[in-house]
Amino acid sequence: MPELEEVLPALAAEMADRDDRGEVASYIPQLSIIDPKRFGIAVALTDGRVITAGDADESFSIQSISKIFTLTLALGKVGDGLWRRVGREPSGNPFNSIVQLEREHGIPRNPFINAGAIVVTDVLLADHQPREAIGEILRFVQFLADDESIVVDRDVAASEKATGFRNFALANYMRAFGNLHHAPELALGVYFHHCAIAMNCRQLALSGRFLAHGGRLSQDGHSVVSNERARRILALMLTCGHYDGSGDFAFRVGIPGKSGVGGGILGIVPGIASIAVWSPGLNENGNSKLGSIALEKLARTMNWSIFAP
Ligand code: GLU
Repeated sequence: MPELEEVLPALAAEMADRDDRGEVASYIPQLSIIDPKRFGIAVALTDGRVITAGDADESFSIQSISKIFTLTLALGKVGDGLWRRVGREPSGNPFNSIVQLEREHGIPRNPFINAGAIVVTDVLLADHQPREAIGEILRFVQFLADDESIVVDRDVAASEKATGFRNFALANYMRAFGNLHHAPELALGVYFHHCAIAMNCRQLALSGRFLAHGGRLSQDGHSVVSNERARRILALMLTCGHYDGSGDFAFRVGIPGKSGVGGGILGIVPGIASIAVWSPGLNENGNSKLGSIALEKLARTMNWSIFAP
């Protein structure tokens, strides 16, 4: 098995040399100012080691990757009842599409497209003020990463709130179907804030460990979710974690992952590793261009795949 201490720096150097970096998301003004030349990667192995390369200690906006953590919390709160309000199928449409919602009576296809994630956030808002719900999500992420320095980037949240017309439309639409129990501005206030959580690759890889460990924080550590729930979250990441590019990601990389428009991807190799990669330029599906390429190369080099014998 190649040594990650050699593989990761070589990968980061190769990515630093590339010019085809994709386009930085511009629909959230605060994200458009990020330097597209950044590239970082961190691998948290189930034996406890964390190996990093490139800009692995620089914070970025995790955006939709936060939807893994809100889904985990919402399942903890309402269990399988969640699936009455959100589906479990890939959408085959852009992440912010409104068309499908009309046909499917306000029930979003899955918890990772925006509409689905807004419903999940609405679940977390029950019996809470928005501020408390945001605090609960942030504390959960800090607990998973064992790092209390993780914060919400309020400038990013404000920037998205000021321009999030489409998300307001989705939320209002679901409210009209009775699938949003709180006022759209309250649910979206929490949603924009959890999307604006800022983490570096090292912190993000650590926060995904519980999924690599079958629901436990470490080999024999604290149980965060049951083994079955961890497997199901991973199944959703594999089938729905990369917007309309989920099939291609599964085909090329072969591990469950969740991307965000900030250019981050969290990938899980069950029993082996939690991987965070970040490069802000996105491909045509809104996934980190170099992040996807780097994960494909890493998985191939290490022979990591959920389909490997
Ligand atoms: N906060 C972003 C939005 O709602 C998340 C998009 C993403 O990362 O997929 O547009």
